[in-house]
Amino acid sequence: MLCPCGCKQILYTNLIEDHHPFWKYKLNGKTISLRPSIDRLVGCRSHFFLTDGKIIWC
Ligand SMILES: [Zn+2]
Repeated sequence: MLCPCGCKQILYTNLIEDHHPFWKYKLNGKTISLRPSIDRLVGCRSHFFLTDGKIIWC
């Protein structure tokens, strides 16, 4: 996914439980939620939740 802040960085969210860190995802119809929040420690340092396909900034 593309970073929602507009910095054009591509964020990789690992969904495989064998690898850390990983995110749990939940599909709700056509939208997706990710937990825990996505916290970039480098670059733009964005911190947000993806809930029902919407970005919720922390
Ligand atoms: Zn960004």
